[in-house]
Formats: sequence, structure tokens, C-alpha cells
Amino acid sequence: MSLPQSILIGPIEYCLKEVSGLRSTQDHTEILGEMDPTECFIRVEADIPSQRKQVTLWHEIIHAILAQAQRRDVSDEVVGVVSFGIVEVLRRNPALAALNSAGRGSDDRR
Ligand SMILES: [Zn+2]
Repeated sequence: MSLPQSILIGPIEYCLKEVSGLRSTQDHTEILGEMDPTECFIRVEADIPSQRKQVTLWHEIIHAILAQAQRRDVSDEVVGVVSFGIVEVLRRNPALAALNSAGRGSDDRR
């Protein structure tokens, strides 16, 4: 899986990087990514399977969305459940990704 160099989340462009050696454990939880809404970056561990990168990227995107909404009270467990759910739904329903692209065409009626 090749990650884009940046990702827009609301009005903020986050620099996106794969980094080796990010993997760690904190409070019995494995850390595979990080994001900083002030420095505008998301980093994902490079040395993990692509399906784990995908879940980790969504995990960090959800943290970024919540940070913009000043919702730092949402638990990491909830962020994890939602990120797994998004990846699962997108994987099982590829037409959903096409739906997002189709909405940007000239016949977008909103
Ligand atoms: Zn987290």
C-alpha cells in the first residue's frame, strides 16, 4: 500500500509519512501510528502489513477529525472500533469508494 504524501482533513493538510521504528507499547496497547494536529502530520509504522497500515491510517484520521472538533474526550478504544469498522465497510463495499469520487463530477446535484 502506497500512502499519499498528504491528506486533507477539513481545511488542514496533514503531511503523511511511513516511519520505521514507530511501533511501541503503551498501557498494554500497541502503538502503530501518531498524529499531531498542531504540526499537521500523521505518521504510520512502515514495517507492518498493509492492512494494518490501512486501519492505523484511519485511526489517526479519526483522531484528527476529533481534534478539529475539540473532542479529545473520545476514548482511544472508540477510535479503534470506528477505524476497524470503516476499513471493514470500505473493503466489503468497494462501490462506496466509487460513490465518493462520483459525487465530485459535473452532474453532482447535491
Ligand atoms: Zn489512538
